[in-house]
Amino acid sequence: MAEKLNWIRDELQSLKDAGLYNRIRTLNSAQGAWLEVDGERVLNFCSNNYLGLANHPKLIQAAQEATKSYGVGPAAVRTIAGTMDLHIQFEERMAAFKKVDSAISFQSGFNANLATIPALVDKGDVIFSDELNHASIIDGCRLSRAQVVRFAHCDPGGLELKLEKERNNYRRALVVTDGVFSMDGDIAPLDRLYEVSKEYNCALMVDDAHGEGVLGRGGRGIVDHFNLHGKVDIEVGTLSKAFGVVGGVVAGNPLVVEWLRQRGRPFLFSSAMTVPDVAACLAAVELLEESTELVDKLWENTRYFQSEISIIGFDTGLTSTPITPIMLGEAPLAQEFSAELFKNGVFAMAIGFPTVPRGKARIRVMISASHSIEDLDQGLEIFKQVGRQLGVIG
Ligand code: PMP
Repeated sequence: MAEKLNWIRDELQSLKDAGLYNRIRTLNSAQGAWLEVDGERVLNFCSNNYLGLANHPKLIQAAQEATKSYGVGPAAVRTIAGTMDLHIQFEERMAAFKKVDSAISFQSGFNANLATIPALVDKGDVIFSDELNHASIIDGCRLSRAQVVRFAHCDPGGLELKLEKERNNYRRALVVTDGVFSMDGDIAPLDRLYEVSKEYNCALMVDDAHGEGVLGRGGRGIVDHFNLHGKVDIEVGTLSKAFGVVGGVVAGNPLVVEWLRQRGRPFLFSSAMTVPDVAACLAAVELLEESTELVDKLWENTRYFQSEISIIGFDTGLTSTPITPIMLGEAPLAQEFSAELFKNGVFAMAIGFPTVPRGKARIRVMISASHSIEDLDQGLEIFKQVGRQLGVIG
């Protein structure tokens, strides 16, 4: 039976043989600095829960209260009967937080990219895309049918050369970049990308999934970080990382937002964000507007951990954000390192090819405001032990 599907078994086996099969761990607890994972209590260095909001009492309360009044599901796409006043309140609040005129929400950051790129460019147009952009940008580019020209990572000079050569062969042009690159933690040079994009008459789009709630004043994101208000046409964000919930958002030019309400396919053809998600996101923006305490704590923790781990002798690569790669080189070493950390009560994932280039395997540590200094010290001590045991540090 189902011989026609046997190829899947072969493909799965090749993944296993190459050490690329995802063995998915299960959490038996809420998100936080400590987790129960596969029945073990471990210190969490894996989640994107930058501000600790995923299990915050105010977000939980907001989700519960909204559910009592509105139920759980929107039961429709936004353009039919799925737009509730909660969605509008959230979008207005988010636009005000980001200091832009308009914002639109999506069911995820991935969907926000799939909605936005094909709505802006089509056959006969061109997209200039950083070579390390996220999969959702790559998929959005493919769906658009526009020509994709990749430019060297975080290199405005490289972009300019490509623009000079290619721009005039196409009608509309879009320059797109991640804000913070999720594997290295480096920040796109958005100020210089803006100058180059402007010169060549290109729209500029940044996906700030890892900068939302992290960079800028009080977590207002990469546009605020570079003080580029009113200059970046499209700022995509996710509500699934620092915001602690799930969802995506596009903030920026009201014309773009109005167009996405008409032509963003996941907005038109997939049901709206759920009630508890929107209510929790609204509570998250309110928290961020009220106080910078959590964002400040995140950066304090980041500075502490990154300085101590370098003193211990580890290489943290190019990071200038809470994403902390611990560079190890070969994938089997990174996998062994991660397994030893787990045995010692630390949950931090190994990342290897094809997510990062061959020979650049690493452990990626995600710092959160929910870590106490004692948590970080405990983690540092275990990194030191495992590093010595495996001969990575002296
Ligand atoms: N863009 C980037 C740069 C990301 O890192 C991610 C999450 N991995 C996404 C988009 C997708 O966001 P979401 O999880 O909200 O779909």
